[in-house]
Amino acid sequence: MAKIFCVANQKGGVGKTTTTVNLAAGLAKLNQRVLLVDLDPQGNATMGAGINKAGLPASTYEVLLGSSDVATARQRSEPGQFDVLPSNRELAGAEVEMVELDNRERRLKDALALVDKDYDFILIDCPPALSMLTLNGLCAAHGVIIPMQCEYYALEGLSDLVNTIKKVHANLNPDLKIIGLLRVMFDPRMTLSQQVSAQLEQHFGDKVFKTIIPRNVRLAEAPSYGLPGVTFDPSSKGAQAYIAFGAEMVKRIKKM
Ligand code: ADP
Ligand code: MG
Repeated sequence: MAKIFCVANQKGGVGKTTTTVNLAAGLAKLNQRVLLVDLDPQGNATMGAGINKAGLPASTYEVLLGSSDVATARQRSEPGQFDVLPSNRELAGAEVEMVELDNRERRLKDALALVDKDYDFILIDCPPALSMLTLNGLCAAHGVIIPMQCEYYALEGLSDLVNTIKKVHANLNPDLKIIGLLRVMFDPRMTLSQQVSAQLEQHFGDKVFKTIIPRNVRLAEAPSYGLPGVTFDPSSKGAQAYIAFGAEMVKRIKKM
């Protein structure tokens, strides 16, 4: 049975997609069977895994609306490390179309239940909003990974996300937990980064992952080659950090 995790933060540009793609590749390096679900109409995770988002035969959109299933729509990531349920801008329409459907928050959960046994990990890359798509991710997951930059405004949005997770836990998905906060794009030379990082540890204790992802240009360059940073330049500091994060996740799920 797969453990299912959402990578979520309603802010854009905070490293959700980079984290999802590189954690998928990092876990694959540790011989874990991984499915990456692209739940963002921007399709960045799809492209970052080497899959052309234009003209997908089937995608997350069809799966959510019930005209396809995950086993049909999934594709292998380009260098063949993990599976991807791909997306493109069509998915934006699902937001509206799902409103009419029964069980609308649990469409993804029900779809993933059919392929659950094929994987150790299912990682869901959420869009930058607390929308019906994100709600489907949160209802399907056992836990949430929250990537955040250690800057002043990072903490401000966090309480909205934490409250949403609490509501989903109380009303829709009793399995849901915050697995951890992941410090990303970290620059140790900045005093503010260090202060915010220390504050996070104080408030959230062991909910803050030990691994810290540094700001690293190789991680930013990799998507233009259609590769995860972990595959593009495995010896880079960013790749090494995501591989270490994969190992930390493997350890954590043994305790779940
Ligand atoms: P989100 O999915 O939350 O919108 P992305 O993962 O797309 O965020 O990241 C936003 C931008 O920051 C992208 O251009 C990405 O390449 C870059 N980026 C993400 N993480 C890092 C990092 N650790 N070091 C350098 N650049 C990063
Ligand atoms: Mg993204």
